[in-house]
Amino acid sequence: MLYREFHSHPELSGQEQWTSGRLARELREAGCEVIRDIGGTGIAALLRNGNGPVLMIRADMDALPIREETGLPWQSRVTTVDSRGREVGVMHACGHDLHMTALVGAARALSALASSWRGTLLLIGQPSEESVSGAARMIADGLYTRIARPDAAIALHVAPDLPAGCVGYREGLISAGGESLDMVVRGIGGHAAHPETTRDPVVLAAQIILALQTIVSREIAAPEMAILTVAAVHGGSKHNAIPDEVVLQVNVRYFKPEIRDHLLTAIRRVADGIARAAGLPPDRLPKITILPESVPPVENDPGLTGRVAGAFLRSFGPDRVTKIDPATGSEDFGIFGKVDPPVPICYFRVGCGDSGGFLHSSMFAPDPAVIRDASHALVIAALEILAPGGPSQEREGR
Ligand code: ZN
Ligand code: ZN
Repeated sequence: MLYREFHSHPELSGQEQWTSGRLARELREAGCEVIRDIGGTGIAALLRNGNGPVLMIRADMDALPIREETGLPWQSRVTTVDSRGREVGVMHACGHDLHMTALVGAARALSALASSWRGTLLLIGQPSEESVSGAARMIADGLYTRIARPDAAIALHVAPDLPAGCVGYREGLISAGGESLDMVVRGIGGHAAHPETTRDPVVLAAQIILALQTIVSREIAAPEMAILTVAAVHGGSKHNAIPDEVVLQVNVRYFKPEIRDHLLTAIRRVADGIARAAGLPPDRLPKITILPESVPPVENDPGLTGRVAGAFLRSFGPDRVTKIDPATGSEDFGIFGKVDPPVPICYFRVGCGDSGGFLHSSMFAPDPAVIRDASHALVIAALEILAPGGPSQEREGR
């Protein structure tokens, strides 16, 4: 079974060689013309079917550096060496293997249903979703200029928090923006016997970490969404040596750009203020670098999403279609829409039920039945967008 094959061959972000080759083969067999190596390992598969709109459907391909502990017969036993030279397990713990399999299912079905639609399907295998860089790289490598510019783009993600068989949609904002930044807290190192000759960056970093916690709790109004996390602290090498610097890895999440701006400005202000209070000169204040793995919020086009949700309601029935709240997770699918002029996008979720594990957990073990639902949802959405004569006439004709 294709899903088990993808699942037992996980590859980390940017290394999706085997995966993209396997996906390309399946899409070619479904009747598509496949172009490979777009923005790294990205692929685009075209299914042309006469005059009509171009609809892009994206599946992401990468896995995570997590050692699988589900005990399933098809569990991943793959390991690799990470950027720091440590051996890590690799696992499809975010369901991207399900997304790819559903994409193949939709390609086969839409190929067989060619008399029911007109236009071009542009099916995408996107690398590096977990590092939120693959979408931007595919666009920079000419996805829209060399291959096809879509009139609409859709994507789905499996959701353990939705009941199995349920589809969750939302017009407008559906997932948070996120920024990752490195903060180098600089001090003046020295011997632990003589702290008076130093400016200890470990103490400084500790003060900064605690002070950062009050930005969200004391500066952001309660109804707004803002999250600030210091997720890693690196510094020092010996019990009796005060280091010169400590590096903090900070992540922020937001729904509104003005909240993002407030958080970033406040982080700078708090860090600088504490460093000054510790007596550091202006050229030794903390150095903050915003990393490229930052993403804007995903904002669904209301018109497109309304049409797709309407089609879901007619096909799945009201018990299986639900309007969901925006998620605090981030995703780079929104970048496919943020071009000039914008491409309307619709990102939705398909419930895979609570399997005892959540996304990014070593115990994530979704029911593979979600593939059928996800594939079905993609076909319904595609037929809604690509049906000749538009959705209203088609509905009346049924
Ligand atoms: Zn993920
Ligand atoms: Zn994911």
